[in-house]
Amino acid sequence: MRRLLSGLWSLLRFIWRWCWGALVLGLVVGAFYLGVQSEGGFAFTQEQAAAPPPPAEAGPSVKAPELTLPNAAVARAGIRTGRVIRAPAVHEVRMVGMLEVDETRLEHITAWTNGRVEAQPVSITGEQVTAGSTLVALYSPELLRAHQELLEGKAAVRALDASASEFMRERAHARLEGGREKLRQLGLSEAGIARLEAASSAQEVFEIPSQMGGTVLEVLVRSGDHVKTGQRMYMVADLSELWLQLTAYESDLSWLRYGQTVRFEVESFPGRSFTGTIAFIHPVVDEQSRSVPVRVNVHNAELELYPGMFARATALAQVDAEGEVIAPNYSGRWICPMHPEVVADSPSTCQRCGMALLSAEDLGYSSAKDSLPPLLVPAGAVLTEKQVGVVYLAAADSLQTTFRGRRVQLGPQVGDHYLVYSGLEVGDEVVVAGTFKVDSELQIRGLPSMMNLPYAAVPRRFQVDMATLEALRPVFAAYLSCTRRWPWTTSPRPAKPAPSWRWPSRRRL
Ligand SMILES: [Zn+2]
Repeated sequence: MRRLLSGLWSLLRFIWRWCWGALVLGLVVGAFYLGVQSEGGFAFTQEQAAAPPPPAEAGPSVKAPELTLPNAAVARAGIRTGRVIRAPAVHEVRMVGMLEVDETRLEHITAWTNGRVEAQPVSITGEQVTAGSTLVALYSPELLRAHQELLEGKAAVRALDASASEFMRERAHARLEGGREKLRQLGLSEAGIARLEAASSAQEVFEIPSQMGGTVLEVLVRSGDHVKTGQRMYMVADLSELWLQLTAYESDLSWLRYGQTVRFEVESFPGRSFTGTIAFIHPVVDEQSRSVPVRVNVHNAELELYPGMFARATALAQVDAEGEVIAPNYSGRWICPMHPEVVADSPSTCQRCGMALLSAEDLGYSSAKDSLPPLLVPAGAVLTEKQVGVVYLAAADSLQTTFRGRRVQLGPQVGDHYLVYSGLEVGDEVVVAGTFKVDSELQIRGLPSMMNLPYAAVPRRFQVDMATLEALRPVFAAYLSCTRRWPWTTSPRPAKPAPSWRWPSRRRL
């Protein structure tokens, strides 16, 4: 028994001395390999880096399973096939929200001065008004005095003749300008002041116009009311443009871009869809709902849509072969960061807001131009939803169909398809219905299922340059150094050779 324990102790010491380094090396190299795998493989030389990636067939050590069935059995099992295609792909992001008044087209008409409502040409909510049309007539002693001063100043200027001194001229003009300035301070426009200046006598009642054409949403005063300076009297909105305020999930943000087209429906018009353009994506996520407000500009020239309507919307994000969001209509063009409808072919400024136009790349779109549309495989053909999927290729003749499993690198799901990064070609025929049946039939026959093949069966590589490899040199050197040292110290291994170990003989036991 003692000898047995001694033998075990010797075995442990042997393992400790000789296997520790190998174990550490194995773990580190294994972790490094897996880490590299998770990012898509590794190319160690420039020649290899320049070489095209190997096909994503089953790996070099694992043969892809094959299954051959008579065509009648394939039909009975309901197995259907489809083609891998290359076509434009649009990812749909669904959101809900509500129509609102465009804040930039909303006007509050307030009293310029203290006064009394003498007349009210517009007194009904919902009435349509044009820019410059009179909303209310206000009696104001203050305005009356200001108008009198303006007319007196004008009369003083008119009374000047050739014999008037320079001092008299300056004084008369200063009086006239003072009258104008007082009216400006009371809120009158230059056109309104010019009109008062042309009047023959001072007015007691002043008409207050709407600065903007639109719909009267609120009437807050009635004839005979006394109003104070700054008191709100009307709210007028131009409803020919509306805002659709949507709520997007945090997880959908990567698909949303400024300027994207949004299609939406409202309950008032079942079966009919309207469109708008994303004009603002809120830069902060709501902590409670984990959502982000998205604002959409909606053209409503026919005034069919009303603020307050509930809408179900779908943002359309077109993606390229790399899965990046693109905007072909903006490609190579310049867009206003405030008005997505303002698009120019060269760098310039927006005519509406004066801001410098930005390129599509500045707005977050992929810079890829004239790239091929993405490679798409029907979603029903893919067994897993991870980055690496399993599909079965089908090759049929007049009598039978052969299914062969293949692992492919997948991009995001876009509608009814997955983007394919590698592993399939255009025109490949794959099983789109009954994929599980094919896989389970393989297992029933004792063949390896594609679902159970090791992950390493998918060779993936990514290219690194020599500078990166040089940067990794100290890491390799450290590995090798570690294996030559005691694992717990930095001192060199003792010169004493490691004791050899043998299995204890039965005789000794
Ligand atoms: Zn603009």
